[in-house]
Amino acid sequence: MEKSAYKELKEKLFSSKKNGYDLIQEQDLDVMEDYCTRYKAFLDASRTERLCTKETIRLAEQAGYKPYVRGMALQADDKVYLCNRGKAVMLAHIGQKPLSEGVQIVAAHIDSPRLDLKPNPLYEENELAYFKTHYYGGVRKYQWVTLPLALYGVVAMKDGTKVEVNIGGEAGDPRLVITDLLPHLGAAQNKKPLGEAIPGESLNILLGSRPIGGEDEAGRVKLSVMQLLHEKYGITEDDFNSAELEAVPAVDACDVGLDRSLIGAYGHDDRVCAYAALKALLDLQKAPQKTAVCVLADKEEIGSNGVTGMQSAAFDGFMEDLCATQDVPLRACFENSFCLSADVTAAYDPNFPDVFEKRNEAYINYGIGLCKYTGARGKSGASDADAETVAYVRQLFDEAGVIWQIGELGKVDAGGGGTVAMYMANRNIRTLDAGVPVLSMHAPFETVSKLDCYETYKGMKAVFHAEK
Ligand code: MN
Ligand code: MN
Repeated sequence: MEKSAYKELKEKLFSSKKNGYDLIQEQDLDVMEDYCTRYKAFLDASRTERLCTKETIRLAEQAGYKPYVRGMALQADDKVYLCNRGKAVMLAHIGQKPLSEGVQIVAAHIDSPRLDLKPNPLYEENELAYFKTHYYGGVRKYQWVTLPLALYGVVAMKDGTKVEVNIGGEAGDPRLVITDLLPHLGAAQNKKPLGEAIPGESLNILLGSRPIGGEDEAGRVKLSVMQLLHEKYGITEDDFNSAELEAVPAVDACDVGLDRSLIGAYGHDDRVCAYAALKALLDLQKAPQKTAVCVLADKEEIGSNGVTGMQSAAFDGFMEDLCATQDVPLRACFENSFCLSADVTAAYDPNFPDVFEKRNEAYINYGIGLCKYTGARGKSGASDADAETVAYVRQLFDEAGVIWQIGELGKVDAGGGGTVAMYMANRNIRTLDAGVPVLSMHAPFETVSKLDCYETYKGMKAVFHAEK
């Protein structure tokens, strides 16, 4: 075979995945940079699911979205949102086609791994005051010590009012911290497996050290802390019983790398996909063909349970209400709908090649990463999208010039993970996972690539613009 013929045949038959920087259009680079600047600002305003919900609604209202009220008449091009208990949001841009032809959904989650305060958190030990915590989601406990922390959340009072707490969130605020052992005394700890070196019960947040009152009094530092909290928020110790207070890293989103090609931040999982979905929806200039729906769910990190999670009937209720405006049965809408389950995936990390299967991983700068299935072992816990659905997305992305890749989350039997995909698929909505590849996922400071963030946004735009 001639050399040129051989080359031609190879080009025709072999996969041609390339680094996204060899594919992206020059004029796209500025747009990408602008997109990422907005994303970083969104992250800094969205450090908890409640704050993220608030920021989402602010942006949606700016784009002309109105709160949905049951019974409201809706027509093509109407834009509505429904806030689920301040912790999750569903948005819809009504399309030209009837809901019986299905809707185009992008579902992401806005909760991230963190340290929640226990119901009785405050105590004093050796004249230092602390909060007891209970970690939320899959955290590697050793990563959460000696890190500046901020505390956000709400205290729900018996009279129905709510107090919003923000400690360490503003410049000049004090930060909180969990201490760790000094290496000089770490010999025994060093011998423990990584997962056991920092036990969950030692993740206690240091709050203060300065006592008040006379030297013969007990609990003087705890009282001082409680006094400060009472002055600022009007709460007493029992009010912690009905509070949701979340300790998160007090670190702003920033560029990473000399070339500024990456973004480091807390909570990329999964606000990086949530923002892409939201922005793609808000950027729709006119009524899409099919109704575009964006779901930003809570509780994914602990199994999507509860009233604000993706398993909640809140989503079905919202969709049923939309369908009722057109006398369409919900089941008819769902069976014709498509959902992109937008969640992050693991990026191949050259520092840890052992857990990855390099022919089937998502790579930094190779674009949005599709996952046909997640799960563990024999795909357990995955909805495993059918080949037809993957083909549908391939076509959609290629047509829109989206840079994308497809892979798995690590080696077979190395571990695994899950997303909201199965809960959407269980509703008889064809669903595929796709999202941004992340380095050090679930760490207090995760890293993603700007190109992948931008291509994910483009992918979601393609989903909302789809005609069939
Ligand atoms: Mn996730
Ligand atoms: Mn996660």
